[in-house]
Amino acid sequence: MLAKKININGIVQGVGFRPFVYQLAATHQLKGRVANTSSGVFIHIEGPSPAIENFSRELTDNPPPLAHITQIDIKETRLKAYGDFSIRKSQSRGQRFTLIAPDVSTCDDCLKEMLDPGDRRYQYPFINCTNCGPRYTIIEDIPYDRPQTSMRLFQMCDLCQAEYDDPMDRRFHAQPNACPVCGPMVQLLDSTGATMVSKDPIADGVTLLKSGHILAVKGLGGFHLVVDAENQAAVKRLRQRKHREEKPLAVMSCDLDVIRQYAAPTPAEEQLLISPQRPIVLLPKKEPEILAEDVSPHSRFYGVMLPYTPLHHLLLKDSFRALVMTSGNMSEEPIAIDNQEALERLGMLADYFLLHNRDIYLRSDDSVVKMVGHGPRFFRRSRGYVPRPVFLKKPVRSILACGAELKNTICLTRENQAFLSQHVGDLENLATFNFFKKAIGHLKRILDIKPEYIACDMHPDYLSTRYAREQTGIDVLEIQHHHAHIAACMAENQVEGPLIGLAFDGTGFGTDGHIWGGEILLAGFDRFERTAHLAYVPMPGGAAAIREPWRMAASYLFQAYGRDFLPLDLPFFKTVQAHKVETIIEMIEKRINSPYTSSVGRLFDGVAAMVGLREKVAFEGQAAMELEMTADLSEKGVYEYALPRDKSMEIPVEPIIRGVVEDIQRQVHPSEISMKFHNTLICLFAEACTGIRRQTGFTQVALSGGVFQNTIMLSGLTKALEKKGFEVLSHTEVPSNDGGIALGQAVVADAMLNRK
Ligand code: ZN
Ligand code: ZN
Ligand code: FE
Repeated sequence: MLAKKININGIVQGVGFRPFVYQLAATHQLKGRVANTSSGVFIHIEGPSPAIENFSRELTDNPPPLAHITQIDIKETRLKAYGDFSIRKSQSRGQRFTLIAPDVSTCDDCLKEMLDPGDRRYQYPFINCTNCGPRYTIIEDIPYDRPQTSMRLFQMCDLCQAEYDDPMDRRFHAQPNACPVCGPMVQLLDSTGATMVSKDPIADGVTLLKSGHILAVKGLGGFHLVVDAENQAAVKRLRQRKHREEKPLAVMSCDLDVIRQYAAPTPAEEQLLISPQRPIVLLPKKEPEILAEDVSPHSRFYGVMLPYTPLHHLLLKDSFRALVMTSGNMSEEPIAIDNQEALERLGMLADYFLLHNRDIYLRSDDSVVKMVGHGPRFFRRSRGYVPRPVFLKKPVRSILACGAELKNTICLTRENQAFLSQHVGDLENLATFNFFKKAIGHLKRILDIKPEYIACDMHPDYLSTRYAREQTGIDVLEIQHHHAHIAACMAENQVEGPLIGLAFDGTGFGTDGHIWGGEILLAGFDRFERTAHLAYVPMPGGAAAIREPWRMAASYLFQAYGRDFLPLDLPFFKTVQAHKVETIIEMIEKRINSPYTSSVGRLFDGVAAMVGLREKVAFEGQAAMELEMTADLSEKGVYEYALPRDKSMEIPVEPIIRGVVEDIQRQVHPSEISMKFHNTLICLFAEACTGIRRQTGFTQVALSGGVFQNTIMLSGLTKALEKKGFEVLSHTEVPSNDGGIALGQAVVADAMLNRK
């Protein structure tokens, strides 16, 4: 007879771990105890030595599907001669090291019950079990127990309580466990907030959607605005009300078969769609389009997801091919979560509200992913993934990293774990800034991390930077934007460098005060050196040049030709008045409000405007995205290019611009020009890396920054570099855009402190 105590760390709470241990102990006829602790799960196990060995092996080899064990510590201990094996109450002492599970989509077992007319939860929109349901969004504090969640208001009925207490039951200690007798309920309200008399609010909601109305539907991490995706007039009205002119709207369909009617997912994309995280996956459209044209205008893709709550299943079943499900907010504001708040903020947007009375404690937007090459690429890492940590190669200090300005996320580190928050948004208004502060407070609390240092961007005007500087009694480290991009890529790939970093994005504050974004860095975690960058050009009007890419076109043209570009026959001259172009030239010449930029993102914008794709954009990166989408992938041509001469760091842009202009004048189709332009950048940067390898011996290249959301750039550069013998690192865990910056800030800050 032997006794052992086992401490397990990782994602082991709220995932059915204790019943699993209980059943395992029963199988091996062992006695003892299991309990949740603040650091994970504790087991005392006793019995014959071989049985304990088998028990321990199965514990690590076959854990429940949603569990993730990061550390297991087994020690011999004194026999206590227990008469049984039991599950003990949670212990909340000691350091809080446990990992909270993300929210999980409805599992197949629950779905089956919900659709079974004989089941007591038939058509109950809040059915869940230990393997599925809300987690992160309903937790206020740890340990993860019902009184610490927004389910505390619902007293379980006898039947639910019996399930909850039975270790052999699928709902043993399922904290959100509920049924129609004791749990949350849905309600239908009109746009003034008046309750509508309804026997079946969901069925009535379906009827309203069928007749073209806009519904605000309360989901898992916030409200969605919902319309029938085949009703063009309804979709159009939603866009007008939401002030969202052109950005694609996400859709939801009930299963893969239906999705295949309007999109063409690959097997890997289908796997991603049905994963328990249920992200929005970007899928190529099938021609001819059968969804309303306003769902995803000017795009070859749909953002598609499968239902992830019982309510979604009930709304979609047999009723719609697809529903538009866009976040419940005005553009630029955070998604609404609170019922009262939703009625106030969404009353102008929605015709009706489908609400429920289970509070969402913390908002979490849908995650957005695209499959490229060997992995999923995150455009937004949020619901379903947060707060699962990114595992680092080495332990780091506890650091709070405040992220960037746009697509903000924050990051907290502890030992070898980096916790990236859900998508916070663009820190450009008070509502988002308040959410930013709330997300920091919440993550600090549920992870029990007291940061020793704060890291932030170098940009003095970012609200995240100002927040960092305002904190008292704690040192702040300012991290260069593109260094953080590359470090994030290194960290998630568990690579330490130094290596070559290609950091391409729209905007980032450089150490020389200019706007960087087309950078070749030699980077380690603790330092970086800028070795080359795209030649600087003025951005006439600053931020206005982001909204109006024709300004960038004029700037590149002026750089290449001087005033000689004015007589050229270029498409954008047809729509932009001559005097406006003249004003831009004057601004450049007199250096009025024309900051310098080396950004690849701006170069994409400029070329898109030059070939006549668009002069103005409705959202950042739109012109660049359309340039990518128009590319004819079979085109192999390359424009002339040059690498920096002599001691200069500047990669000339002028030869590329001349190539583009000559093609425009020869009436070459934009699809061909676009592909040649992509090919040129790929060849240019691959060759530049080869030159750097000769000087430094570095054989690894990290690709980061928003430009690598461009599939042609990501796969093209990866292929070209691998062909030249480089090891290429890219992002598959965090976004390559500014949503991944906070991770880089944290690891760089730690490395800089080590150097000190
Ligand atoms: Zn379930
Ligand atoms: Zn009940
Ligand atoms: Fe960036």
